[in-house]
Amino acid sequence: MALLELDSLHRHFGGVHAVDGIDLCLERGELRALIGPNGCGKSTLFNLITGALRPTSGRIRINERDIAGLPAHRIARLGVGRKFQVTSVFDELSVADNLRVAQGPRAALPIDALLTRLHLSERRDVPAGVLSHGERQWVEIGMVLAADPKLLLLDEPTAGMTSPETAATVDLIRDIAATGDVTVLVIEHDIGFLERLDCAVTVMAKGKILRTGSFVDVRADAEVRALYFGNAA
Ligand code: ADP
Ligand code: MG
Repeated sequence: MALLELDSLHRHFGGVHAVDGIDLCLERGELRALIGPNGCGKSTLFNLITGALRPTSGRIRINERDIAGLPAHRIARLGVGRKFQVTSVFDELSVADNLRVAQGPRAALPIDALLTRLHLSERRDVPAGVLSHGERQWVEIGMVLAADPKLLLLDEPTAGMTSPETAATVDLIRDIAATGDVTVLVIEHDIGFLERLDCAVTVMAKGKILRTGSFVDVRADAEVRALYFGNAA
């Protein structure tokens, strides 16, 4: 069953067609990467799904329910979680307490299970302020997971990470999707990350979807290479 359906979605800013007719369907438990050059509309698409922005036109369905135009807090309650790049971690609180703060009253996952999933069990009681950049990002992901999302939106989750941290983040994201219960849509530029993530990739250009396919197929596509990978691929 489709968890997320976007139907002819548009968002214009004056004359800028940031999102210009997007159709997208993600199944429950699906993992999907979203790539495209700067300014092609990826973050705007996330803002539309979370309700931070209203669509100019088009439909957004979560679990077959039309959410376009609902306020952001109601969309969050329907199970849409987003990790922001700006940090929401409290430095002086322990890792476990940060997760507890984020956990709603109907918490599905015990803190210890969440810590295990994040590979942060050994960091349970240290103040978040002493964590490495990568560990901190995992706490951030954990804080979103603590609210029991059905759809997890990640915007460049490995920005600034070392390559072992990036690899661990790939494993974490794959584990989350493998539960079958959380659908994940992740914006990322890092080619190594995309290759390891090993999932369908949707390529955006100028507010539209140019291609969807496996990483290998998308990377081999002449139009995608010219637009996005340049000479790097
Ligand atoms: P990406 O995340 O793919 O880099 P964005 O979604 O941030 O792209 O931006 C898509 C286009 O929409 C860009 O031209 C950007 O300048 C424009 N844009 C995004 N948000 C706003 C806004 N709040 N007001 C005006 N223009 C915006
Ligand atoms: Mg962006």
